[in-house]
Amino acid sequence: MENILLVENLIQSFRVGKGLLDELTFQNGRFIRETLRVHAVNGVSFEIPRGTVFSLVGESGCGKSTTARTIIKLLEPKGGRILFQGMDITRFSKKEMLPLRKQMQMIFQDPYASLNPRSRVLDIVREPILFHRLADTKSQATEMAMDLLQKVGIRPEQANRYPHQFSGGQQQRIGIARALSVHPQFVIADEPVSALDVSIQAQILNLMMDLQKEFHFSYLFIAHNLAVVKHISDHVGIMYLGKIVEKGRKQDVFSNPKHPYTIALLNSIPRLEGKNLEHTPPIKGEIPSPLHLPSGCHFHERCPYAMEICNEVYPEERMTAPNHWVSCHLY
Ligand code: SF4
Repeated sequence: MENILLVENLIQSFRVGKGLLDELTFQNGRFIRETLRVHAVNGVSFEIPRGTVFSLVGESGCGKSTTARTIIKLLEPKGGRILFQGMDITRFSKKEMLPLRKQMQMIFQDPYASLNPRSRVLDIVREPILFHRLADTKSQATEMAMDLLQKVGIRPEQANRYPHQFSGGQQQRIGIARALSVHPQFVIADEPVSALDVSIQAQILNLMMDLQKEFHFSYLFIAHNLAVVKHISDHVGIMYLGKIVEKGRKQDVFSNPKHPYTIALLNSIPRLEGKNLEHTPPIKGEIPSPLHLPSGCHFHERCPYAMEICNEVYPEERMTAPNHWVSCHLY
């Protein structure tokens, strides 16, 4: 199947504190000023076949949202390649990205912050249709926007209200309608339900699945909880400290996880049948700072199976079954 997106060895980092937090080190009898950088994304590679859902999962601070923002070019990549529909967009300027904006859309974690508080909901959804000239007339654009609002569960009489007059779940529905208003081929959903009540999360996830079936776009779905992505994904990538440590088809990763971090994440999901995967000791400590990446395998300080080699050498990605990849010296 043709890929809508191919990401190769993506790298993203940021300088911290405009130099105020730079560190002094002493080397060869001289003080040297070392620039402090957050190493947020450290060589991420994956592909998304057209019409499918790829979920990127990991704890807060693992670099998954930065990966998403870099792919959609809200941030300029520091290295690697991004191919969208076969086109290398890695170095595309803002102007070159403009025609692609309607094909790549994003749904944000905080729906209220992503909606213009001074615009009525109808305008929020209609404006991209007009901007990208997807309608011949304003009344046609209005019809298209109203139709979409209805699809996401906003009633016609609510279309003239402002974002603050809606609940968090309704605001996310409006954000989804705005993203879909330009008929995108590819949608990045960055933790779209994590700010919502658990009771609302299922409704929004079901809506997102229904809309994907109806409009046939592809998703990159970002989440910190594997339980959230279980039913929505075709493929899953597990991210830890800026790297994908395991990736594969959803059913393989869920039923036969390989990486100790994936197993620990899966064991943290309550199971109705009360059955856990192979018993692993819980993960120790906190995720290390991306300012100072650990040597060797980034997970070695927390891994119950760490061996000597793990402190020194980053494990290469290996295929353990068709389409199932893992980076761990155990394999
Ligand atoms: Fe654990 Fe070593 Fe595998 Fe890293 S490479 S996950 S430290 S066993």
